[in-house]
Amino acid sequence: MRKGVIVICCLIIGFVNLMSQNKVLEDSVRTLIKGMPAAERLTYLDQHMYENVSNFNRLIYARLLYEESLRQRNEQTEADALFMLAKHFYANSNDSMRYWIKKAEPLYRKLGRHEELCRMKGWDIYAMDSEGKGEEVLRAIDNLKTLSRELAFPEGLEMADMALANFYFSNTMFKEGEELYLNVLKRMEERDAPIIKRYTVVRHLFNRMPEVDSRLAYLKKAEDMLKTCKEQGMTYLDPESPIIDLEYTLHRNYCREYVNVYDLQEAWNHLHMAQQIADANNISRAQSELLHLYYMCHRYAGEYDKALEYIEKTEKRSRQRNIMPSLSNALKNKSFLLNELGRSHEAYHTLQEHIALQDSINNNDFHRVLAELRTKHEVEKLEIESQQAELKAEQNRLRLSFMYVCGLILVVVLFVLAYMVYVNNRKEKKIKAAKEKAEEIDNLKTTFLSHINNEIRNPLNAIVGFSDILIDEEDQDTRQQYAKIVEENNELLQQLIADVLDISKIESNSMTLFLSEQDLPTILGDIYDDMKPWVSNRVEFVLDPCSPLGLRVDKNRLTQIILNLLRNAIKFTEQGSIHFGYTVENEQVRFYVTDTGIGIPEDLQIVIFDRFAQMAQGKRKTGLGLAIAKGLVVLMGGDIHVESTLNRGTTFFFTIPRA
Ligand code: ADP
Repeated sequence: MRKGVIVICCLIIGFVNLMSQNKVLEDSVRTLIKGMPAAERLTYLDQHMYENVSNFNRLIYARLLYEESLRQRNEQTEADALFMLAKHFYANSNDSMRYWIKKAEPLYRKLGRHEELCRMKGWDIYAMDSEGKGEEVLRAIDNLKTLSRELAFPEGLEMADMALANFYFSNTMFKEGEELYLNVLKRMEERDAPIIKRYTVVRHLFNRMPEVDSRLAYLKKAEDMLKTCKEQGMTYLDPESPIIDLEYTLHRNYCREYVNVYDLQEAWNHLHMAQQIADANNISRAQSELLHLYYMCHRYAGEYDKALEYIEKTEKRSRQRNIMPSLSNALKNKSFLLNELGRSHEAYHTLQEHIALQDSINNNDFHRVLAELRTKHEVEKLEIESQQAELKAEQNRLRLSFMYVCGLILVVVLFVLAYMVYVNNRKEKKIKAAKEKAEEIDNLKTTFLSHINNEIRNPLNAIVGFSDILIDEEDQDTRQQYAKIVEENNELLQQLIADVLDISKIESNSMTLFLSEQDLPTILGDIYDDMKPWVSNRVEFVLDPCSPLGLRVDKNRLTQIILNLLRNAIKFTEQGSIHFGYTVENEQVRFYVTDTGIGIPEDLQIVIFDRFAQMAQGKRKTGLGLAIAKGLVVLMGGDIHVESTLNRGTTFFFTIPRA
């Protein structure tokens, strides 16, 4: 019991010791890299991670590299670190390994590092196999095959098949396993795969075949492979596999196999060769392995005292290094040997110590539990940290989205409200404007009609009245005066009716234009001739020089417009001048009629083209001339406007497009 407690204490002390050593290394590396430029830091950590042989040191470098890569956003070194982290936990702590593989996968896909990705997937499958999760293994193998096809990476298929072969072996389907391994080997040879890959297949076979003969046969095959490589001058199968190291392993395995079949001669031969290689090449792991083989060889040869010598060396070594499973095993073998040598008392005590140690290993398994706890704790910590970060990011995202959505809804609601108010206002305004317009039009129409009524009545009365008295009048001169009045009023009436008809045609869009090619100077010349007699002597009447121009136009309507403008100019100009003519612009002809007459007040200018406006102003005339002119100009695709100054004169411009 006491011994058990001591053993446990030793384990804890050993573990704590190891942890504090790691912490010291980690801190010193951190301080060291702090002083380096950013890029150098990554190179330093990356190199040391690969060079470092000790597993724990590798882990430290890998962790630091991972942290640094994240900080510097260097995806390549981040991927290196993740691979090393997963590799460290492979066959060590499956959960931790899976944690890192999960983190690595998207990055490896992104970077196109397919081989490493498939290798990691392969580790996961081996881990599942060792955990006895048969169904999951098969599913994972299928997934790896799909992934390999998806990535167009045929080596991934080989890896999947190797995992399946391994699975067969784990389930005692040796024949199927061997066949599949050999099939993979054949495929590798066909595609001339790197030798290390082929060697790995053979290594699996000589390690896992159930019969000694088969194992020996595959050992021989491996030996031949190494021999060929050496003949080709190679010293390494890959950077992690020096040939000499593999040779040592071969002889060690040979020795073990020959001991098993009691061929001690061969066993000794290989043991010596392994020893020679280990000595010459300083293979550190060889020491304990060879001690065990020496023990085996002597024991199977019945040389118990010599065997005891080696087992005691193993015992000492295990005690010094706190390797408890190996110590427990050594104690068990030692007890057996002591007993065989007749030292039963010592054998009894040794056996007691073995049992106590084994109990503590079996029941408490502190080393493993603590190590697992530590990695588990770290994984959990990492997972919690990353989950928290993700959660926080998610919360922020959600909060932000929520705010966006709220903002958006608010904006939409405000917009809709504003739009509704706007539409309502517009509607009301429109209704109001329409109402006002309707009222105005109604008023104007009423005024217009009453004016028309008067305008018609006046000349009619004059015509009827003067016609009556004309008949009875005998004086010739007076008769002629009356006849002239009747004629004037007749013309006025005709003009009035013609204007009303024109404006109503324009209003109802039924005015038709009769277009034909016309010579403008001729039209304007005719107009000049017609109007000249009507102009007072005191007014200079001028048709300005016009460049020759043909225009496709309704001659009568164009004449009508110009006449309307000229009539007004003549009417409202007592002295000075009246000019008219046109200028040719790029796409249009610009006509003008300008006078030095009384001018038009500004308020009248605004409504001057409105057919009812002048009625509202209380003017005597019908006021249709300009309204008709505007209607015709617009119908021809042009525009009309006025510029006028009171008592100085007025100019009317209108345009007609050329095409
Ligand atoms: P009407 O001449 O029959 O009244 P118009 O539409 O031709 O109808 O003219 C409208 C009004 O515009 C005229 O009554 C007059 O007050 C004003 N007007 C038009 N041309 C001139 C002008 N050249 N000079 C001054 N006033 C003008």
